[in-house]
Amino acid sequence: MSTSQTDPSAIYDVFVVGGGINGCGIARDAVGRGYSVFLAEMNDLASGTSSGSTKLIHGGLRYLEHYEFRLVREALMEREVLWRNAPHIIWPMRFVLPVHKGLRPAWLVRLGLWLYDHIGGRKLLPKTATLDMRTDPAGKPLKADYRRAFEYSDCWVNDARFVVLNARDAADRGAEVRVRTKVLRAEDENGVWKVQIEDLRTGEQETVRARYLVNAAGPWVDHIISGVLRQNDVHNVRLVKGSHIVTKKKFDDPRAYFFQNADGRIIFAIPYEEDFTLIGTTDQDYDGDPKDVAISDQETDYLCACASEYFAEPVTRDDIVWSYSGVRPLYDDGASKAQEATRDYVLKDEAGKAGAPMLHVFGGKITTYRKLAESALEKISDTIGAKGRPWTHAEALPGGEFPADGYDAQVDRLVADYPFLERGHAARLVRLYGLRAWNMLGKAESTEDLGRHFGHDLYEAELRYLVDHEWAVSGEDVLWRRTKRGLHISAEEAEAVDGFMQTLSEAQKAG
Ligand SMILES: Cc1cc2nc3c(=O)[nH]c(=O)nc-3n(C[C@H](O)[C@H](O)[C@H](O)COP(=O)(O)OP(=O)(O)OC[C@H]3O[C@@H](n4cnc5c(N)ncnc54)[C@H](O)[C@@H]3O)c2cc1C
Repeated sequence: MSTSQTDPSAIYDVFVVGGGINGCGIARDAVGRGYSVFLAEMNDLASGTSSGSTKLIHGGLRYLEHYEFRLVREALMEREVLWRNAPHIIWPMRFVLPVHKGLRPAWLVRLGLWLYDHIGGRKLLPKTATLDMRTDPAGKPLKADYRRAFEYSDCWVNDARFVVLNARDAADRGAEVRVRTKVLRAEDENGVWKVQIEDLRTGEQETVRARYLVNAAGPWVDHIISGVLRQNDVHNVRLVKGSHIVTKKKFDDPRAYFFQNADGRIIFAIPYEEDFTLIGTTDQDYDGDPKDVAISDQETDYLCACASEYFAEPVTRDDIVWSYSGVRPLYDDGASKAQEATRDYVLKDEAGKAGAPMLHVFGGKITTYRKLAESALEKISDTIGAKGRPWTHAEALPGGEFPADGYDAQVDRLVADYPFLERGHAARLVRLYGLRAWNMLGKAESTEDLGRHFGHDLYEAELRYLVDHEWAVSGEDVLWRRTKRGLHISAEEAEAVDGFMQTLSEAQKAG
């Protein structure tokens, strides 16, 4: 991937700080309208909050209780738009919400779900149903006390890949995307931004000029304002940590569970990566460095206890195979509890000293990233002149150029074209890469043609593809973000991947 120096006399239209879902979404929308775009990410794409989510494309049933109707409606409407745009990495999921005596009454939950079904332009997703848990298979892994449940629709997303595919599309359309590239300083020089960046792998620094600066640094957004723009101390975001545990599979049903807790919060238990269950999340104010965020013992115990309130077989620490945490960069609206702070996004535009314009992005959901990008583009267009029209609602992300219900047909086609692939392997490749799986496999006629084997169904061809097309640099990028093969391979195999990635990365740096 590109690590070349830019032409120092070039002036980009838009410079984006941050390669999370919001930065990549804005870069993609902007370049597709005809603006020239530069994006810098200091670590890996999606290495911040955007790979630490619950991975739902959802309206947010719980936000109805906080009267966030605008957000819920917009998010509900986005579910089918995004599913159509990326049917490989986004798919519908049904959620089973057991009625719990002493918590929200059934009529209130049903009312919320009625709204959920009706305010969001639902066309393809099935509506809410009522389940008798004594006979429905969803009742089997739960305690016998849960006799009734509601089943509703939302969608699932592979969050880390969602970010990378937005970056890939932006780059395919002409954006310059740099990873491991930190923005050190941004100065307004006669109405143009002079942005100093450093390649953290080589230590090389360079200056990039741009007419408009977008601060999409997620949990670091205030740090950009104070540290990079050198403005006075600012406190716009409320950092709220959320953690998840991944356990051995707790149930076989393809549906997910939505569990209400006695503290008024909710958690999800979701089928994950074939052999696992994903359980989360927590909500805790956080004042550490976002890069150091990790689950605490207290959060682990909380998640085990909440899930054990429902599952007949309790969830214990011994079941846990992995955990991850993320920091929500919520707009600080002064709410007293972390769980009550608004999940809606806020865009603030202002000008530097000589009038060079900039935009700060606060809050937001993965689900609403595309609408957030459209709102950002309205502000950019108003300031530096309009180019193009909104377009992202109807354009597939890379590899997703097939019908929303066409996943199985693509797996069949891949197996027919590459008969040496096991069906599970083919299914995984279509889930991650969609139609680009064919680019990765190229002329391969046997597993030997895929190169070195790194364990499970991971081969050299996939690593090379991820380096050449998806900005992967390290073993972690490959095993925990571009794929989740880290869950399936041994520590020795992971070490071998790391070593191989280092060799590829050195070779790339050397040119
Ligand atoms: C626990 C949890 C669960 C969630 N669940 C969901 C869910 O199910 N559905 C949903 O829709 N949303 C969910 N969200 C919300 C969603 O994940 C976030 O709103 C979203 O990922 C924020 O994206 P972002 O691009 O703003 O920030 P980030 O993804 O953090 O991206 C910001 C990037 O900026 C980079 N950066 C910072 N400083 C610099 C610099 N100086 N130079 C270069 N780069 C820099 C960082 O490295 C980082 O990669 C959840 C969030 C959390 C924490």
